[in-house]
Amino acid sequence: MLSLAETLSMKGTTSIRNLPQTSDKRCNECSRYLLIINNQEQCGYCSLIKKEDEQIGIEAREALERKERMKALRIFNKESIINDRLKQATFENYEPNNESQEKAKAIVKRYVENFSTDNPVPLMLRGDYGLGKSHLAAAAVKELAEKNITSIFISVPKLLTKIKSTWDKQSETTEEEILSALEAVDCLVLDDLGAEQTKRDPNGNIPWSVTKLFEIIDARIGKHTIFTTNLDNQELQEHLGPRNYSRAMEGVHPIKLTGEDYRLRKFKEA
Ligand SMILES: [Zn+2]
Repeated sequence: MLSLAETLSMKGTTSIRNLPQTSDKRCNECSRYLLIINNQEQCGYCSLIKKEDEQIGIEAREALERKERMKALRIFNKESIINDRLKQATFENYEPNNESQEKAKAIVKRYVENFSTDNPVPLMLRGDYGLGKSHLAAAAVKELAEKNITSIFISVPKLLTKIKSTWDKQSETTEEEILSALEAVDCLVLDDLGAEQTKRDPNGNIPWSVTKLFEIIDARIGKHTIFTTNLDNQELQEHLGPRNYSRAMEGVHPIKLTGEDYRLRKFKEA
């Protein structure tokens, strides 16, 4: 039996002569009829069109994710997330006062330089107040922004207040929008973890803030998250509860800062 292409070419329709013949066998993967190209049976769909379809799918998904991330930034840019002092924070104006601070600066700088969404690393900057943990995290966010990497820097107590404010029916933003924004962003800084109120109610129930915080941290697993805290391991575990704690600490790279209060030192020098 002659193929359609052959029939047409016999009638002198030269433009269609190069059309491949159709086999009577079907593709194992997609069940479409195979084509005979250079005496070999091939699936036209799987060998060509499917790849293009997949590429279009990937591009569409990426565009959607980009849009989500931009929306995330808009939600959080409506208010000042980084206070004025931290707005000025850069790696250059972070002055390490001892080896632990020097090391912390070097690690966070390297973190920014090597930042890749394919290789997410959660960082935990810990140490007493005033050692510049937030300064380093804010500097990181600023440099990431210059590399077109979307980041949100927010203190945990402020974040919880913001979420609470969405419960008001007048609120422009919904809690869900905030949570998906926190999930979508390339890098999330949760500043001052442990400063939020987590007291149990008189009945001994876990407060909503702990549950919410866990939801946020859990959604960030496998993504870049920078935590800062002045709690030690023991305190943090008590604060979050053992289950939340071990989930939150999964794969976390701890960076310990020691020394004298950074802001106090500046004050003394002035
Ligand atoms: Zn196929």
